[in-house]
Amino acid sequence: MTRYFAVTDTGLKQINSHKDDFFPVVGTNNRNNNRNGSGIVKRAFVTEQGGALMGPIGSPLVTQFIFDEHARHTGTTYSPSADLLDQVNTIERNDPRLEGKGFLHSHPGNLDRPSGGDYDTLVNLTAAHPWLSGYLCPIVSGWSSDPSAPHVAQLDVGFMSVYYAERRKGGLAIEKATLGLLPVDRDSQLLARELNGTYRGSALLETNGQLQVYGEIEADGLMAILITPVGYPDVAPTLMVQSASQPEPVGPSCGSSTSQPVTPTDEPPHNIVCFCGLPLRERLKYIAVPDKAIPVTIRWDLTLPEKDRLQDALDAIQVPLEKKLEEAFVPPEAPCVQQPEETLMKPEVPFVQQPETQLPDVSGQEDSHESHAVSGRWHIVGIWKSCSGFFLPKHEKLGRHVE
Ligand SMILES: [Zn+2]
Repeated sequence: MTRYFAVTDTGLKQINSHKDDFFPVVGTNNRNNNRNGSGIVKRAFVTEQGGALMGPIGSPLVTQFIFDEHARHTGTTYSPSADLLDQVNTIERNDPRLEGKGFLHSHPGNLDRPSGGDYDTLVNLTAAHPWLSGYLCPIVSGWSSDPSAPHVAQLDVGFMSVYYAERRKGGLAIEKATLGLLPVDRDSQLLARELNGTYRGSALLETNGQLQVYGEIEADGLMAILITPVGYPDVAPTLMVQSASQPEPVGPSCGSSTSQPVTPTDEPPHNIVCFCGLPLRERLKYIAVPDKAIPVTIRWDLTLPEKDRLQDALDAIQVPLEKKLEEAFVPPEAPCVQQPEETLMKPEVPFVQQPETQLPDVSGQEDSHESHAVSGRWHIVGIWKSCSGFFLPKHEKLGRHVE
C-alpha cells in the first residue's frame, strides 16, 4: 500500500522559505543580466540541511516545518540535532493535537532518494522511538529523476521527493509516498476576497475525534470558516458561517421600482431575498445566525480544475427560501399583464397569487418578471430572472390599507 500524505500550503511555504539554506546563493551570472539588471542567481550545494515535519495527531497531514539550526551535518549526511528533537518534544507537550511526522533533509543535486547513510540514521531513530511505526523522510534535491511522479513536489528551488520509512518484519522499509497539497491558505484567501473580508489564518478544528485544518475569515458582520479535510480539493470542503451580531434589516437590493424600505414592526413572511447579482457576503448574511456556526450547502464539481472548484461553489450558493413562499409563486410562462395598483392593496387570504407584471428594468435583465401575492398584512413581490431560474421574493407592508 502506498502511503498518502498531504502538506498544507503554509507548511510548503515554510519549507520554501529555507531555499537559501538548502542551496545557498553564491553569486549571479552577470552575462545573463535581464532588463531590470538582476542577474541569474547562482546557487551551490554546500552541506546537507534538514528539519522536522509536524502535523495533527493521527492524520496524514503536515502543517509545519521546523528548520534544524544546529544539525550535525556534512556534505553527505544529516542527523537531527538534539535541539530539534527538544523543539519537537516541546511542541508536542504544549499542543497535544500536534505530533512529529518525520524529518526532511537536502541532498546534493542528483540524489533524489534516501541514501544508505540515511537508512542507518532512520534505523537508529526508529530504534530510539519504538512506539512509532514509521517516519516521513522527504528528500530535497536540485534535480528529480521524475518531476511529475506522485511522490514529488516542485519547490521554489529544486524538488521534494517524499518517502516513508516503516517498521516491517525483517527491517525498515523505505518507500515512496503519494503527496498531496492542501491549499487552505490559497482558498481561504479567495473566500476572504469574495467576502471583502480579512483572512485571519489557519488553525486546527476537532470534529468527532478528527483534526482538520480550517481557514477563518472575518467580514463585515459575518464570520466564515473553510474546513479543508485531508484530500481537499478532491474532497469537498465544509463552509460554515455565523453572524457576528444580530442581523440588521436588509433593504431592497434588486432595483425594483416597487421596492420600499421594510419597517420591521410585525413579523414579515420573509425577508427581502435576492439571488442574482448579490455579493457573496449578502447572500451568506441570509443564511448566518448569531451565536452558532451553521454549514452552507455547496456544490463541488470535480470536473473543474481543482483551483476553480471553490470559486464555482461560492458563485452557486443560493439564498434559502421559505417553503410557503416557494408555493406562492410559479415561474411566469404566459405573456405579462400589467396589474392595477388597487388590486395589490386588498388584503386577502394567505398567498393569493396575482397576475404577473412585466418588470423591464430589474438589474438590467430584460427577461425579469414580477409575481404578486398578498398574505395578511404583507404584499409580496416575486421577481424572476432567467439567469438562475430562481425567484426572488420581496415584501412590503400594506400599511394603512389594512385594518
Ligand atoms: Zn540523506
